[in-house]
Amino acid sequence: MHCPFCRHPDSRVVDSRTSDDGSSIRRRRQCPQCGRRFTTLETASLSVVKRSGVTEPFSREKIVGGVRKACQGRPVSEDDLALLAQRVEETLRGNGTAELDAYEIGLAILGPLRELDEVAYLRFASVYQAFESLEDFESAINLLRADRAASTEEPAPDDQSAESASGELTETVLGGESALPPMR
Ligand SMILES: [Zn+2]
Repeated sequence: MHCPFCRHPDSRVVDSRTSDDGSSIRRRRQCPQCGRRFTTLETASLSVVKRSGVTEPFSREKIVGGVRKACQGRPVSEDDLALLAQRVEETLRGNGTAELDAYEIGLAILGPLRELDEVAYLRFASVYQAFESLEDFESAINLLRADRAASTEEPAPDDQSAESASGELTETVLGGESALPPMR
């Protein structure tokens, strides 16, 4: 990349450092022409395709904003929200897809939100999965109860059965027609 000071078309990397969460690399560069130093930040591009077809960069702030609404009046701190957004981003980056839609983002939010606060989770899921009736809430609550009962029971004798059970549960929770959540 060219030097931001003298526009020399080349630069030399003098130092490079990966961020703590591994999502970016900071490179210290020096221009061979004018000798000045500057820093570049390299991140894998992650963009969101909105329903209108417009693409915008993924933003943790928007995740926080969307989840914060579901958390109104709940004992959830800003730190909790920030951590949740970080987990969501890590999950999405881990999927290896550069372009995400609101459905995938909502999906990545549900898991960590459920761990954080079950009421907020239900609120969020009701919008995300377009709950239409009390029965929809009832079945979602039943799933939460069943899962809680399972987690308070003695640990399963072999891990494999526990894993397949939770896999099934995930499928049930996420099945059905899903409306896209409002991502703002
Ligand atoms: Zn220069």
